Amino acid sequence: MTGPSGDVRPMPMEGHGAYNRNSRVQAAGLLPAVTLLQDATRIVPLESGTQPVLVADYGASSGRNSLVPMAAAIGVLRERLGPERAISIVHTDLPGNDFTALFQTLEDDPDSYLKGDPAAFASAVGRSFYEQILPPESVTLGWSSWAVQWLSRVPAVIPDQVQIAFSRDPDACAAFARQAAQDWRTFLFARSRELRPGGRLVVLTMAVDDAGEFGYRPLLAAIQATLEGMVREGFIRPDELRLMAIPTVGRSRAELAAPLEDGGLGGLTIAHLEVFHAEDRIWAQFEADGDAQAFGAQWAAFSRASVFPTLAGALEGGRDDPRAAGFMERLEAGTRVQLAAAPEPMLIPLAKMVIAKDVPAGG
Ligand code: SAH
Repeated sequence: MTGPSGDVRPMPMEGHGAYNRNSRVQAAGLLPAVTLLQDATRIVPLESGTQPVLVADYGASSGRNSLVPMAAAIGVLRERLGPERAISIVHTDLPGNDFTALFQTLEDDPDSYLKGDPAAFASAVGRSFYEQILPPESVTLGWSSWAVQWLSRVPAVIPDQVQIAFSRDPDACAAFARQAAQDWRTFLFARSRELRPGGRLVVLTMAVDDAGEFGYRPLLAAIQATLEGMVREGFIRPDELRLMAIPTVGRSRAELAAPLEDGGLGGLTIAHLEVFHAEDRIWAQFEADGDAQAFGAQWAAFSRASVFPTLAGALEGGRDDPRAAGFMERLEAGTRVQLAAAPEPMLIPLAKMVIAKDVPAGG
C-alpha cells in the first residue's frame, strides 16, 4: 500500500481467521515466553482495592495465540487476587486487523479465558503500538508475541530481495537497521508510559541468533524464486517486485538491549533477555511421517497468512488490484511446490525478554 507520503506500510495478517488457522509455528515458538509471563505475574505489585487489573496484549491478530498466555497470566492473578477482582484484558492491533475474528475467538474458542471467569473482561484497541494507546500507568502486565518484528514502515526499497536479512544492498540494510532501532525505542517508550510502577512487559520476537542468522532461509528462497518466476511469466512487473518488501526484522541480543542500557528508558530495565531457537514443528512432523507435500503446504500457509498480504500491497492497485487474489494463490502454490521438492529444517531464532518498570524511590 502506498500511503499519502509515498511510504509503503506493513499490512495486517490475512483475515477471515486465516492467521488463527495457520500460525502453529508461532503458537509453538511463544510457549517458552509464557513461563516468563507467569513468573512476572507472580511478582508484579498488585494494588489492593477494587480497581481492575489491566493486562495488555500488543499485536494480537485474530487472538488464537493470545489464549494460552492470557489464560496463564489470569491463572496466576486468580491465585493472588481470588475469583472476584476484575481483570481487564486489552488486545491491541493495527486498525485494519480482523477484530471480528478476534472477538469470535474470544467468544467461541473452547480455550477462551472468558469461559468460566465472569470477572475477566476483554476489549480491544485498534491503533499502532508505536504510540501510547493506553492510559498512563494503567498496565500491570504487558505481553507481545511475534509482533514487534514488524516495522512501522518500509524505510527503503530493497532492490534485490523481499526480506532485508538476505539483501546485499548496503543502503537498504542501513536504512532498515536505523528504522529497526528507532521503532524498538519508540515501542518501549510508549510502553514505559503505560506500565504501572513495578509492572512488567514480556516480549517474544524474531531475532538474529548469536551467529548473526535470521533463519527461514529455505522459505525465503522459495518465496523469492516464485516471485521472480511471476515476473518472467509477466504476471507481475519488475517494478512491482522491486517495491515488494516484508518489513520484518530480526534483532540481535545487543540491539534488543541497547535502548535499555545506561539507566534505561522511561524507567524501564531488562529483567531477562535470551535468544533461542524455536522447535520447527513442521519439520518434526515431516521427520515423523515423511509427507513432503504437507511440509511444503504448511510453511506456505504460514507465509501466506502472515506476510503475503503485505507483498500483495505492492501490486500497482494495492490489495484491491484485480490480480491480488491470483497473486496470493500463485505465491502460495509456488512456495509450497519448491519446499516440498526439498524439505529442510528451518532455523527459527527468537528472543524472549522481560522488561520491568521501576518503582520510584520512596514509592
Ligand atoms: N500475537 C500473535 C499474533 C502475531 S501476528 C501471535 O503470537 O501469534 C503479528 C501481529 O502484529 C499482526 O496482527 C500485526 O497486525 C500486528 N502488528 C504489526 N505492526 C503493528 C503495530 N504497529 N501496532 C500494532 N500491531 C501491529
